[in-house]
Amino acid sequence: TLFSARTENHDEPDLVEHVQQPGGLVADNISAWFGDHKVLDRVSLSMAAGEVTALIGPSGCGKSTFLRILNRMHEMIPSASLFGEVRLDGDDIYAPSQRITSARRNIGMVFQKANPFPAMSIYDNTISGLKLAGIRATRAEKDLLVEDSLRKASLWDEVKDRLEQPGGGLSGGQQQRLCIARSLAVSPRVLLMDEPCSALDPTSTRRVEETIESLRGQVTVVIVTHNMQQAARVSSQCAFFLAAQNTPGVIVEYGATEAMFAHPQDDRTSDYVNGRF
Ligand code: ADP
Ligand code: MG
Repeated sequence: TLFSARTENHDEPDLVEHVQQPGGLVADNISAWFGDHKVLDRVSLSMAAGEVTALIGPSGCGKSTFLRILNRMHEMIPSASLFGEVRLDGDDIYAPSQRITSARRNIGMVFQKANPFPAMSIYDNTISGLKLAGIRATRAEKDLLVEDSLRKASLWDEVKDRLEQPGGGLSGGQQQRLCIARSLAVSPRVLLMDEPCSALDPTSTRRVEETIESLRGQVTVVIVTHNMQQAARVSSQCAFFLAAQNTPGVIVEYGATEAMFAHPQDDRTSDYVNGRF
């Protein structure tokens, strides 16, 4: 079937023993540098399978860097270096035996600025990740996958009659949802989202939040957001990043979102979530 590669992976007995639901992601003692500039200091975070984890904190504290480290995009930056481990379902994604393409396939990423292929049709955009992910599909399977992915991204109803039109003709909010559909089409276990709504109107923002809601229990989501209401609405876990002047980013506080917003343990968290930064 279309998703046999993924299913086979999870039939391996040694994995099944430790993992109940695919997609548990653990960052263990991560430090990161650009040249000599240290930007993250011993950050550890466990992102529960099927849950939504929000990363919050002021600009420049290393949230995007941390997100890129989670799917090996960090290593594409020539000056970047890294210490620590990232484990997906117990496997170190940076281990020499792990292929970078499998990290990318299992761990999708959506950016602040939507980046569909502008001249490519909506249909082809949606399935443009299949080849790199090593997924082969017949035309009929592709048709199903396109519909399913666009439905999951809350975009199907708006584009079902114009699938052959170019992705670049969509509104900004629709383009962002197209990018989410493209990420979901390869059945990732994890979806990383870096401020996915900060360029969107309220309606598109609501659609994206609906999508995140519907992924709960199926895909592990890690979302960077500057919108505290959004963090409260979509996430069950929350991590507050902070970089004091001239020091690398650290996680100041981590916990259940509701508890963290209602009763922050650290004064700096309290100041941040209450808008006093
Ligand atoms: P955030 O997403 O929280 O705003 P970033 O991860 O983008 O933070 O940035 C963390 C720090 O790393 C900042 O000091 C930023 O200037 C630096 N940085 C980010 N990307 C690069 C890069 N490609 N090269 C050099 N420094 C970078
Ligand atoms: Mg950022």
